[in-house]
Amino acid sequence: AQRGPERRPVLKIILLGDSGVGKTSLMRQFVSGKFESRYKATIGADFFTHEEIIDGRPVNLQIWDTAGQERFQSLGSAFYRGADACMIVFDITSNESFSHITTWLQEFTLQAGQKDMVLIGNKADVQERRQVYNRGIQQWCAEQGGDMQYFETSAKQNTHVGAAFRAVATAAYRAK
Ligand code: GDP
Ligand code: MG
Repeated sequence: AQRGPERRPVLKIILLGDSGVGKTSLMRQFVSGKFESRYKATIGADFFTHEEIIDGRPVNLQIWDTAGQERFQSLGSAFYRGADACMIVFDITSNESFSHITTWLQEFTLQAGQKDMVLIGNKADVQERRQVYNRGIQQWCAEQGGDMQYFETSAKQNTHVGAAFRAVATAAYRAK
């Protein structure tokens, strides 16, 4: 377990999913106005530190986003190292992005071990171009067993973005 100043817990949460699904937009929407610091890491990933109160205690969330390398190559072990949880993101207007979530989940489990995760269907504001439907989503969640949480978000309209980040953070915090 990492410890910050004042022994405040630090949770590393990583964003996974195909290029273009809205990972960076979700992170920016979540931290905008509240973010503390931004680092440009040499490994080509960005992380933001964001304070949340979880179960009545202040916790620093370290949220990692890729610099776009998911398009070209695997993300590398540094991105996954020490991750407490992940958000696997697809785009509800892209069947292709949904078809890859199992691969992302397997990669996360392989690199980070059995950890908490939530599934995010982003771009919920674009229902007219929807390709991924609730039945398929619920079926996939059930196939994972246990209690995979699903959130349908719009980074554009700020719908359920905070709820999704708080859910994954709470799960990771309680598991620690
Ligand atoms: P990333 O590659 O997963 O980091 O995706 P980005 O955050 O860069 O977003 C890819 C594109 O989708 C950009 O043009 C965003 O403006 C757009 N986008 C992201 N989230 C949403 C959303 O919730 N609704 C809509 N309509 N567009 C979005
Ligand atoms: Mg991005």
